[in-house]
Amino acid sequence: MTCREYKDVMMAYLDGELEEKQIKTFQAHLKDCPQCRQELDEFTSLKKITDSVSLVEPEDRVWDQYWDNVYNRLERRMGWVFFSIAGILLGLFGGFKVIEAVILDPGVDLMFKVCLVVLILGLAILFASVLRERLYFRQRDRYKDVRR
Ligand SMILES: [Zn+2]
Repeated sequence: MTCREYKDVMMAYLDGELEEKQIKTFQAHLKDCPQCRQELDEFTSLKKITDSVSLVEPEDRVWDQYWDNVYNRLERRMGWVFFSIAGILLGLFGGFKVIEAVILDPGVDLMFKVCLVVLILGLAILFASVLRERLYFRQRDRYKDVRR
């Protein structure tokens, strides 16, 4: 075999893909050939670099996924916060407008006015209760983040 041919089998040699007979022939040639020895050194360091790169890659992917998750959670929380604030403001504003209009209307029965006020009060209590529950779970989420 010539040096050129040995060059072609160097990668296979480093990956442990050669047969025992080929390995012995190659190692015998290395003893007599400083050029191929140097070439093998270069291949060895190159292989080390590519191996370490392929080791780092999956970790990078996990890291990316982690940040995607953090971003998604933030996005969902922001969405919920905006939705709640707008919902509360609209509810209060609309509720007051309706109550004001109905109560100021002398043609509306007093019983109906009382029912309407109680209904809106009930809705407000329900909404506050759901909101408190949401805030409670958000705090527990945050606690989980810290522990992770
Ligand atoms: Zn050689």
